[in-house]
Amino acid sequence: MTASALRDFSRLCLHTMTTKPWSIETAIARYAAAGVKGITVWRQWLDGKDPKGVGQMARDAGLEIVSYCRGGFFPARDRQGQQAAIDDNRMIIDEAEALGTQLIVLVCGAVPGQPLSDSRGQIRDGIGAVLDHARSAGIRLGIEPLHPMYADERSAINTIRQANDLSDFLQDPLVGVVVDVYHLWWDPDLQKEIRRAGQAGRLFAFHICDWLTPTEDLLNDRGLMGDGCINLREIRGWVEDAGFKGFNEVEIFSNRWWQQDQDVFLEAIKKAYLAVS
Ligand code: ZN
Repeated sequence: MTASALRDFSRLCLHTMTTKPWSIETAIARYAAAGVKGITVWRQWLDGKDPKGVGQMARDAGLEIVSYCRGGFFPARDRQGQQAAIDDNRMIIDEAEALGTQLIVLVCGAVPGQPLSDSRGQIRDGIGAVLDHARSAGIRLGIEPLHPMYADERSAINTIRQANDLSDFLQDPLVGVVVDVYHLWWDPDLQKEIRRAGQAGRLFAFHICDWLTPTEDLLNDRGLMGDGCINLREIRGWVEDAGFKGFNEVEIFSNRWWQQDQDVFLEAIKKAYLAVS
C-alpha cells in the first residue's frame, strides 16, 4: 500500500550530517526553530563535547534524539583490529547512553580484499561481543544494510535480507534493522523483507533521501526527496504497514547542498518532505 501524504513535521528528523556545515549547537537551534522534532547525531559532532550536555541541549530545544550514528566497522585484518573495533563500539554505546538516545545505527564495515564472508562472520561476532554492554545501557543496535557499491570498505551487509538473517541468528530484541531508501530501493525483495522485519519487531529506523541520475559522487551526491527516482512514498507505505511508527529521518550527503545556505536547504527539505516523502 502507498502511504498517504505527510501533513506536518511531527515525524520529521534530520541527521546532523545532512546539514554538515552546521555545528551541533547551530543544528539544534535551527532544527527546533524550523519545527523539526527529531535529531540523529553523528559521532563527529560530539568531538570535544560532553555528550550529556549536548543531549540536554537538544531536549531543552524540544528535540528527540532519535539515534546516534554510527557504530559498527567490525571487520579487521587481525584479532587486534577486531578487538579495537569491539572496544570502540563499547565506547560508542557509552556515548549514546550519555546523549540520551536508545538507538545506535550500525554501519557494519568491510575490509578491501578480505572475503565478504569473513567480514560477515566478524560483524556477527562483533555485534555479539557488545550485546551485554548494550543491554546494560538500554541501547538498541540497528543494522543498516548499505548499497552493494559500498561492499568494498563500508559494509559487507548489503541487503535487508542479510540484516534480517543476522538478526535472526543473534536472536536478541536489542538487534534490528534500519531501512535507508538510498541503499535498498532497488531490491526486489524489499517489501517482503520489510514485512519480515516488522513481524519480528525489529524495524528500528527509516532513513530517506533520493537517488539522482546521474549520480556524480558515490558517497556525497544524494538527492532531496522528489529529485530522484526512488519510490519513496510507496516504500514508506510498506514500512508503515509493517508497524513502524517512528521518525522519517532525512539523511542527505550532498556536496551540492552543502555549498548552499543551510537555512535555504532546510526550507527545501521541509517543502519536499510534505510534497513527496
Ligand atoms: Zn542511513
